[in-house]
Amino acid sequence: MTTKRCVLVGGGVAAASAAAHLRKRGFDGDVVLVGEETAAPYERPPLSKEFLTGPPELVRPLTPDWYAANGVELRLGVRAVALDVAGRSVGLSTGERLGYDDLVLATGVRPRRLSGFDGEGVHYLRTAADAGRLRAELATARRIAILGAGFIGCEVAASATALGTQVTLFEPEPAPLARVLGAAIGAVLMDIHRERGVEIRPGEHVTALDRGRHGFVLTTSRGDRVEADLVVVGIGSVPNVELGQDAGLAVANGGLAVDEYGRTSAPHVYAAGDVAAQHHPRYGTRIRVEHHDTAVRQGANVAANLAGEVTPFEEAHWFWSDQYEHSLQSTGRMGAFDSVVLRGRLADRSFSAFSLVDGRIQGVISLNRPGDVLAARRMLFAPHEVTAEQLADESLPLKRLMPRTKTASRA
Ligand SMILES: Cc1cc2nc3c(=O)[nH]c(=O)nc-3n(C[C@H](O)[C@H](O)[C@H](O)COP(=O)(O)OP(=O)(O)OC[C@H]3O[C@@H](n4cnc5c(N)ncnc54)[C@H](O)[C@@H]3O)c2cc1C
Repeated sequence: MTTKRCVLVGGGVAAASAAAHLRKRGFDGDVVLVGEETAAPYERPPLSKEFLTGPPELVRPLTPDWYAANGVELRLGVRAVALDVAGRSVGLSTGERLGYDDLVLATGVRPRRLSGFDGEGVHYLRTAADAGRLRAELATARRIAILGAGFIGCEVAASATALGTQVTLFEPEPAPLARVLGAAIGAVLMDIHRERGVEIRPGEHVTALDRGRHGFVLTTSRGDRVEADLVVVGIGSVPNVELGQDAGLAVANGGLAVDEYGRTSAPHVYAAGDVAAQHHPRYGTRIRVEHHDTAVRQGANVAANLAGEVTPFEEAHWFWSDQYEHSLQSTGRMGAFDSVVLRGRLADRSFSAFSLVDGRIQGVISLNRPGDVLAARRMLFAPHEVTAEQLADESLPLKRLMPRTKTASRA
């Protein structure tokens, strides 16, 4: 009997989770993890937060000795450069060709780059190496300009402020994270940053970057000139689909198209994490999520399927973002922001905004109310029927709103 080999491409948490769950579920074949970064898998969320403000320690999903102890071969600092789905092999940057019985592509995303915004003092943040460089320069920077008030931009703004750096944050939209949070919650976030001294410039973007003798001069869409010692660009990401796409794998929503079991369009090739655009059975549509928890869970799900279980991934998506002492969390999918049901008050900075359709919670965004998100996450795909009045009534615990008697579930 020959030993099966499962190759995991990508050294992030999705690949690490797949490795851990393959072993947990009794897969006794060879497992090889090929990762371009030289560091063993680590968690990225701290890179824009504690890693910048505190000790630069990496948080690892698996201890470095776990891999050897569990017979998982780490091929770090190695890039998978070609995929042959007919011959079931991947070509590596070392010149080797690695055969597989099953392959998991967990190649993640890379930062979207802005043409002309490159070189020393200009930062993009994705890897521990990126964060290390940014951390070192933040130590002496007095003024930092951040392009884009998305998650990365807002979190770096909070961290830089905590370090005593003056931050100017440019955002073409009317408020930070406006597309994710809607205008009203975005405005709460804007106030939080402004109170801490961040100069947020909504509706304005940077059109040119010039290097002066003492740092940068940025020209803005309003014609202003703003000085900065260093620049961080956080304008979104690009999924690393090329390895799969060049081999003929179907692409959707910018990612590698996978079904509910994590299977791509090629036999024996799966995808998980940020790069995967997965058919979600609960929504009946393809969704690509760039959040930690989904990457971990999809990695686990693909491993379960490889180990012989046939389990669709149909969990509720969830994310968090920590900025200053505030914790923003969300689960599910928000509909129109103008019809949300508010539990708590925006002004108190302790609230949950629910998307409610036909008596069912579709999604929630909370500020400093993790318990609400936890309760909503449990309810999302379970039978329940609630009214806007019940949701808004803070004297009524959310868990009391989930009747146990109904059986039908609809997404
Ligand atoms: C600074 C930062 C802060 C974040 N904060 C939060 C947060 O607070 N909350 C939250 O929910 N999410 C957060 N995220 C998002 C979260 O980290 C991602 O969703 C998660 O890392 C996705 O994991 P992944 O394994 O799918 O991909 P990745 O983490 O991107 O890992 C993919 C790996 O594959 C490697 N790779 C790519 N191509 C190849 C190839 N051809 N050959 C070999 N290796 C390859 C890459 O180098 C990379 O190491 C944050 C992300 C960043 C960057």
